[in-house]
Amino acid sequence: MTRIAIVGVAGRMGRTLVNAVEQAAEATLAGGIVEPGSSLAGADIGELAGVGKRGVVAVDSLEAIVDDFDVLIDFTAPKVTLANLAFCAQHGKRMVIGTTGMSDDELNQLDSYRDKVAMVFAPNMSVGVNLTLKLLQTAAQALGDEGYDIEVIESHHRHKVDAPSGTAIKMGEVIADSLGRNLKEHGVFERVGQCGPRTDKEIGFATVRAGDIVGEHTVMFATEGERIEITHKASSRMTFAKGAVRAARWVAGQESGRYDMQDVLGLE
Ligand code: NAD
Repeated sequence: MTRIAIVGVAGRMGRTLVNAVEQAAEATLAGGIVEPGSSLAGADIGELAGVGKRGVVAVDSLEAIVDDFDVLIDFTAPKVTLANLAFCAQHGKRMVIGTTGMSDDELNQLDSYRDKVAMVFAPNMSVGVNLTLKLLQTAAQALGDEGYDIEVIESHHRHKVDAPSGTAIKMGEVIADSLGRNLKEHGVFERVGQCGPRTDKEIGFATVRAGDIVGEHTVMFATEGERIEITHKASSRMTFAKGAVRAARWVAGQESGRYDMQDVLGLE
């Protein structure tokens, strides 16, 4: 049985994760952490998530539950996640990290824990998106150097704070890697004014923020005469939460290292 604690338990993903842990076999809800000083500290996390009292109360520090959990699931914000990594390294805990929007410096900091913490870090935990990454690899290899323009379009709810989404960037990286291109050099993240025509090798990104869209990604391969679109649409956060719980159960048996969902799902 994997004992799971959820940081950011009052957030959109946090509440969904409580539900997902409840529904999972071989996993138990061992704790929930809210922001320091939050008035939700002391609340039953089952009640917070709308699944009814579970007898586990939210706390506002990891120290308070250090002996209770094996794996910490963290969908919060970059700085919070990095602080939690330091805690997990110190206390021999494993982590599943869904937080997106890290800067290059923050990603380097995260990576520096790969020898100290067994972690799964993925910008999208859904099985469907991770399969889509494989499809994109195949499509890019077949089309990318044959005159097909590649564009990534993503849509999310109005509250999302980072852009483009971590998933869109990951899709761009997978495509760029498949084609021997560097996303830092060939990614185009903004087009405004007299920006001139598109170049052959660029990989373009467009972002939509509106309403309650859970997460949609389309990658377009377009040339004269035809267009192929590979689309993934998430209709509920449960798909990410289920993937995260699957990752938590998997990482519980792993040595220190930085893993992703392709490792968890055996898609490498
Ligand atoms: P949210 O704002 O609803 O939730 C974040 C929660 O973290 C909030 O409740 C906040 O109070 C809490 N928090 C902040 N600082 C804290 C601290 N020091 N200690 C404990 N809790 C703290 O956001 P969300 O929509 O749930 O998304 C959270 C993150 O997860 C974002 O980066 C988002 O992009 C990412 N995300 C990833 C996936 C994936 O599959 N990897 C899926 C959805 C969202």
